Amino acid sequence: MDCLFCKIINREIPADIVYEDDQMLAFNDIDPKAPTHQLIVPKRHIATLNDIEEDDLALIGRLQFTAAKLAREAGFAEDGYRVVMNCNEQGGQTVYHIHMHLMGGRRFTWPAG
Ligand code: 5GP
Ligand code: ZN
Repeated sequence: MDCLFCKIINREIPADIVYEDDQMLAFNDIDPKAPTHQLIVPKRHIATLNDIEEDDLALIGRLQFTAAKLAREAGFAEDGYRVVMNCNEQGGQTVYHIHMHLMGGRRFTWPAG
């Protein structure tokens, strides 16, 4: 499949992997927007948030649960952090395999741009 994140999951393209289990992979963003900027992806290909089905609810919960775990490990869980999932063109999605951005280590403003 011609998907960048599937290629990273399948080790066809290198990435700086920070976490892996049977369902998830997390790696550093190649163009970080914060001192820590990790991408957490389910290993199963789902193109956008619009493609999540009822059978995927546990997987999506695990995605958020993994983000919180990685925030604790990075040391900014208590200070705070930002998680983002972009959907489709107007949402700013550029890679069509769902991923959660985990960003920490600085103060974030609201509303997001
Ligand atoms: P999106 O814009 O789809 O929400 O996020 C895609 C993210 O993937 C961007 O933050 C971008 O910097 C990151 N990215 C794009 N290509 C690569 C790559 O080859 N390796 C890694 N580690 N991150 C990438
Ligand atoms: Zn994929």
